[in-house]
Order: sequence, then structure tokens, then C-alpha cells
Amino acid sequence: MARAESVVVMIESIERASVMAYHKRKLVLVYAVMRHFAQDLRAAGWTVDYYAEHGDFADALGQHAAKYRPAKLRLMQQSEWGVTEALAAAAARLGLAVDVTPHVNFVSVPADFDAHAKSAAARVTMDVFYRGMRRKTGLLMDGGEPAGGKWNYDAANRERPVRGLRFAPVPRFEPDAITREVIAMVERRFAGHPGIVGDFALAVCRRDALAALEQFCAQRLDTFGPWQDAMIAGERTMSHSLLSAYINTGLLHPLEVCERAELAYRNGTARLSSVEGFIRQVIGWREYIWRVYWKLMPEYRARNALGADLPVPAMYRTGDTAMFCLREALAQVRETAYAHHIVRLMVLGNFALIAGFDPIETNDWFWSMFIDGYDWVMVPNVIGMSLHADGGYVGTKPYCASANYINTMSDYCKHCRYDRKATTTDDACPFNALYWDFVARNADRFARNQRMAVIVRNWQNRPIETRAAIRAKAARIRDALCRGDRI
Ligand SMILES: Cc1cc2nc3c(=O)[nH]c(=O)nc-3n(C[C@H](O)[C@H](O)[C@H](O)COP(=O)(O)OP(=O)(O)OC[C@H]3O[C@@H](n4cnc5c(N)ncnc54)[C@H](O)[C@@H]3O)c2cc1C
Ligand code: SF4
Repeated sequence: MARAESVVVMIESIERASVMAYHKRKLVLVYAVMRHFAQDLRAAGWTVDYYAEHGDFADALGQHAAKYRPAKLRLMQQSEWGVTEALAAAAARLGLAVDVTPHVNFVSVPADFDAHAKSAAARVTMDVFYRGMRRKTGLLMDGGEPAGGKWNYDAANRERPVRGLRFAPVPRFEPDAITREVIAMVERRFAGHPGIVGDFALAVCRRDALAALEQFCAQRLDTFGPWQDAMIAGERTMSHSLLSAYINTGLLHPLEVCERAELAYRNGTARLSSVEGFIRQVIGWREYIWRVYWKLMPEYRARNALGADLPVPAMYRTGDTAMFCLREALAQVRETAYAHHIVRLMVLGNFALIAGFDPIETNDWFWSMFIDGYDWVMVPNVIGMSLHADGGYVGTKPYCASANYINTMSDYCKHCRYDRKATTTDDACPFNALYWDFVARNADRFARNQRMAVIVRNWQNRPIETRAAIRAKAARIRDALCRGDRI
């Protein structure tokens, strides 16, 4: 694409940003990234036709076509199912030829996924796909072998939280005039949206995103692995990278992120188990999720294999709950639009799974509330990994757990008014009855699942009165959630 002959059209569509009640911080990030990118493009000699705070895409595109009379519109494959076609149709209505280029923000191509499927319908596992991606990229490979001799070092990770554990702080990038203008616009235009902008200090340009990557690899990557799954009250980021928002908005490329992480291992700054664990998240999980989305959409989004139908309760919007773990998680999401993976999966997602939240409503809650949320990444993570509503494509075993897991991996239960060991008493932790009720509701299905059958047998071997009391307690909790009572 030649700079002299091309015009870059960028559109801030208020209509698109209002389709869902997106967290204010997310809107600030997206608009600030767009405006800084436009500035960088102009500085590099490109002509940019920018539509700030515009009503909708089609109208702005029409104005652009009338102004510049382009011969064709070149656009990158969109990350959301159906949107590339919708944009191409809008362009076609204006008489523009359309040229769609592949998405640039991923490392894999469809064949990297399909090559591992024994048949068109067969499931591809993340582990097999990940090994293929390591071979393809050469990341952490010594000749044809994985660095250190193993593909996966998770056995060295998963440390429990210990008292006084502290990590290097996440870098702050103070808002410049452009970002301050965006913040004012979001506060004005989207006043009714959830969350707070607060002291927004995220990177919104490539230079700062690269600085964030550098700081992570130099100061926090080494401790990423051991405490990857741990949760500590008041310690919201641990040693996680917080790079997903930058990768998903295109400020960073996943391959450069992994290459910089590998360098930290090669130069002795970070241990192999941490670096491998981190690279697996990016070229393993992130790419796998992207491929699953494009493989199984659009029917995937509507899956509800466990027949879950509880409306997302009011406390997910208000944050008002006596359950310490959920209160911490919901407060963090409201204030930062971020929570690390285990908080998403084993606190917010786990509760939604065992209580039986409606999958689409849950998906949309996550999508609207998280800084890095987009349809492609939410659907397989929420419908699939978290709620098991896909029937076991992303994970063969549901990520369900009682208070025991949360107590092992966090210090939350110490601060909670509920008794983590009790199941049916008034002060019993709600996770416990809901967990067993979830197993009971799905006993037939899980009895056929090798990884769940033992748990089902454990449930079925309990005295009938015990089971009845647990199920009655779970029913009371679910009723309270439906009514919007504080639990
Ligand atoms: C219920 C649920 C919802 C999620 N929603 C999102 C989302 O909207 N957007 C999003 O990018 N990730 C999502 N994830 C995946 C993961 O939790 C986030 O990518 C991660 O927490 C982002 O924080 P981080 O950058 O500090 O990640 P780190 O823990 O530092 O991990 C490094 C990177 O790996 C990638 N990654 C790791 N796991 C996944 C995954 N399962 N899917 C995709 N990328 C992954 C991300 O790019 C991330 O930045 C979700 C997971 C769950 C269980
Ligand atoms: S006792 Fe239950 S509700 Fe309270 S923090 Fe622990 S797991 Fe969460």
C-alpha cells in the first residue's frame, strides 16, 4: 500500500460502542489507542481521514467515499464473526471494491490447527496444537527438541500464596492531552456504562506498550510461573503481564512478545518454567482460542450443553455480596476492567458454572466488563473453558471447584464471613452446596466423563439425607440469586 496514493480511514462509531454496556475503561483504551495511532500514522506521512465520535460506520464510510472517491477499500479480516462481511457489504453499497487481507495479530494459520484433527469434526487438543506452534516458531526449541527437554513445566508452577509475597509494580503511563480528551468524551457520552475510568494509566501507543513488555520481561516474568494460579487479597496483578489489552488492540504482536520473553530465559533473567508457561499462554492458549472460534462459529456461541439458565445475578453488576472472593473480584473488575486468569476462571467463572448462569448472558457480561474482551476471545473462554457449555471442546473436564480450591490458592477465605468448611449451615460457603448440586444436576453426563466419574461416585455414595440437605441448600442459594438478595 503506497503512502502517497492511500488514505487511511478511521471511524469511532458511537453506535458500535453502545451495542453493549462496555466498561468505561475499555472505551477509553480503544479510543485513545485509535487517536494515538492516527497521530503516529500522520507523523509517518500517511493521510488519515478520521471520524471522531461519529454516529455509525456506514455513514462515515459514505462521507469518506464522497470526499476521496477511492477505487477500493482495503480492510483486515475482522476479529468478530460476520463483521468483515458486514463492512464489505457497506462498502459494496457505496460501489467500492473490497480487498480483505488476513488478520495480522496472530501467529497461526488455519492449517496449523486443522493438521492435528483426525477428521473434520474431530477435536484438536491445546497440548498438541501448542507443540506444533513451538515447532513452527522455533520458540524455546533447541534444535528439534524443547528447551530443557520438556514441553511443559507446569509441575514447577502452581505455588500456593505465601504471606508477604510482593511483586514489582505494573508500570504507569500517565494520560497525555489526547487521552485526557478521550476520558472526558467517554465520561460524557457513556455516562451510564459500568465501571470507572479512575486513575487510568495504561499504554495507548506502541512506544509505551513496548516499554510495558520490556518491564514485564525484565522484572516480573521470572516470578510469573510459580504464582500464576495464586490469588492474594489486595494484590491484584501478581506477576501477570497485563499485556492482553495491548496485544488485542494491535499495539504488540504476539510473536514479538514471545521472542522478548524467550530472550529473558536465554540471557538468564527469567527461569525456564516461567518463560515456557508464559509463551504457552500466548502461542498456545491465545492462538488455540482464536482457531476454535473460527472453526466452530457461529453455532458455538449458542451452545448450552448443561442446560444452564439462571440469569446473571444483580451482584455481578453491583458487586454487593458478602462472599469475600467474589466481592474482591467484582470490585477489581469495576475499578480496573481487569482480573487475572485464575480470578476469571476459578472465582467469577466457577461461580457462574456451578450456580448455572445462562451462558450467553455470562459471555456478554464478561465481554462488556473486561478491558481485553472481544467476541473471538470471550466465546471460547466463557462458553467453552469456563462454563463447559460447549460440551467439552476446549476442556474435557469442567473447571468446577468448591471453597477448598479457593482456600488452597488464595488467602481470601481468611477474610470471609462464610465458613469454608461448612456446606449446609446458614454460614456455609455458598460454593460448597452449589458445587455438589452442580455434580448432582449433571451426574449422568459426568459419570461418562473419565475425569469426573470419581467425583460423581463420591456424591452418590453419600447418605440420601445428606444429599437432600445439600440440594435444598443449593436451591435456596439459587433462589436468592434470582431474587437479587444479598448473599
Ligand atoms: C472467563 C474468562 C474470560 C476471559 N476473557 C478474556 C478476554 O476477554 N480477552 C483475553 O485476551 N483473554 C481472556 N481470557 C484469557 C486470560 O484470562 C487473559 O488473557 C489474561 O488473564 C489476561 O491477563 P494478562 O495479560 O495479565 O495475562 P497473562 O497471565 O500474563 O498471560 C499472558 C498472555 O497470554 C494470553 N492468554 C492467556 N490465556 C489465554 C486464553 N485463555 N485466551 C486468550 N489469550 C490467553 C493473553 O494474551 C495474555 O496477555 C479469559 C479467560 C477466562 C477464563
Ligand atoms: S469462604 Fe467461600 S465465599 Fe468466602 S472467600 Fe472462601 S470460597 Fe469465597
